[in-house]
Amino acid sequence: MIWNEPIETMPRPDLAALQSARLATLAAYVYERVPFYRKKFDKLGLTPASVKDLHDLPRLPFTKKSDLRDNYPFGLFAVPMDQVIRVHASSGTTGKPTVVGYTRQDLEVWAEVCARCFGLSGARPGDMFQNAYGYGLFTGGLGMHYGAERMGLTVIPVSGGVTARQIMLLQDFRTDVMACTPSYALALADKLLEAGVNPADLPVRVFILGAEPWTDEMRVEIEAKLHADAVNIYGLSEIIGPGVSNECVEAKSGMHIMEDHFLAEVVAPDTGELLPDGQVGELVFTTLTKQAIPLIRYRTGDLCSMTHEVCICGRTHARMSRILGRADDMLIIRGVNVFPSQIEAALMGLEQITPHHRIILTREGRLDALEVAVEVTETFFRHVGEEMFSGQRQQGIGDVQALEAHVQQRLRETLGLNTKVTLLAPGQGPRSEGGKLQRVEDRRLV
Ligand code: ADP
Ligand code: ZN
Repeated sequence: MIWNEPIETMPRPDLAALQSARLATLAAYVYERVPFYRKKFDKLGLTPASVKDLHDLPRLPFTKKSDLRDNYPFGLFAVPMDQVIRVHASSGTTGKPTVVGYTRQDLEVWAEVCARCFGLSGARPGDMFQNAYGYGLFTGGLGMHYGAERMGLTVIPVSGGVTARQIMLLQDFRTDVMACTPSYALALADKLLEAGVNPADLPVRVFILGAEPWTDEMRVEIEAKLHADAVNIYGLSEIIGPGVSNECVEAKSGMHIMEDHFLAEVVAPDTGELLPDGQVGELVFTTLTKQAIPLIRYRTGDLCSMTHEVCICGRTHARMSRILGRADDMLIIRGVNVFPSQIEAALMGLEQITPHHRIILTREGRLDALEVAVEVTETFFRHVGEEMFSGQRQQGIGDVQALEAHVQQRLRETLGLNTKVTLLAPGQGPRSEGGKLQRVEDRRLV
């Protein structure tokens, strides 16, 4: 079903007119209320009155994740705190997380766009909805929760994990629609078989999957194993949370963006220049209606392409492709955002190891596994003896084991993740050969 037919099937010229009007209002709103934006506008010689329609968008300044961090926690809020009735934060494990706030109207919009996502996914009022996204500071759980209630689904707010309970609910409550991460859907499929449950006997029709990158191959596997549709949902807390875009179950070919609320652009990551349909670049959003923390041209760091082609489902809103990578080097490991620079920082200041290291991401079973392979110094190498590094080394001998454990502990403290640590002989770590240094090997999606 199309949840909001007048908006979702609005002719493009009408949509552009709506976006233009909202953009002009937004420019005046942030100029008046957010000193950060007033300064930016003044510096560029922009007056709010000069922002009249969509053609003015490229003249507006970009906003970056670091701007949110620099203004931690509430510095970019555009309303007094007594109008902010909810806050959420993204999963930064070190330093400060990114904090976002919602007015009552923001929560209304959020429920509305998430209700549209349920419609896009093929859910209907009356469906039983098992919400296995995490509840808490993370936006996933509560975002989907209110969207489902808005449509009139029956929400099972089970939150993430505890697979035995998820399976019990799937069976006993006769779940029709489930939301979780794609990697969890695969893990669930395995566990169902282990538990002797045939997924074909479960009524669940559709899995709404997001919060992390996945592939079409994974979709094929998930749909075959779980005997249900699997659709992609995208969002980020800075823009609202889940509900920024969602695939229609009819086409499963790109995620329709809620363009009346979130104005999307794809730009070249280096120059910031607008890219045409079909070209991969960095996704940028302007929040057209947000009150508590409106953002102008927010650089998501997510790489994808866009299309304005007509869709078979009848909706007119543009579609974005799957997320194909990151413009920055952020990694998402078991749902935790990790920057390689954090790993580098954890390795620094240890006298037995060098800065040369490799970061390897794999899937162990269904879960992400992180390995850091780091070169030891010549001195340490000579001290423990070369044989420690040749092929069949026995695990856990004296100084080698102690050093591995020490590095592991430092990484755990910095990242909040368990890491496998491997020591490399001098010269074995990656070196730049003229071009860009390839430090990260992500083997999860191959
Ligand atoms: P947290 O940082 O707490 O995980 P966020 O909502 O801020 O929560 O994370 C948003 C990021 O998650 C996005 O910028 C994107 O990189 C990733 N993401 C969300 N949904 C998808 C999806 N469907 N496909 C790929 N990546 C996604
Ligand atoms: Zn469609």
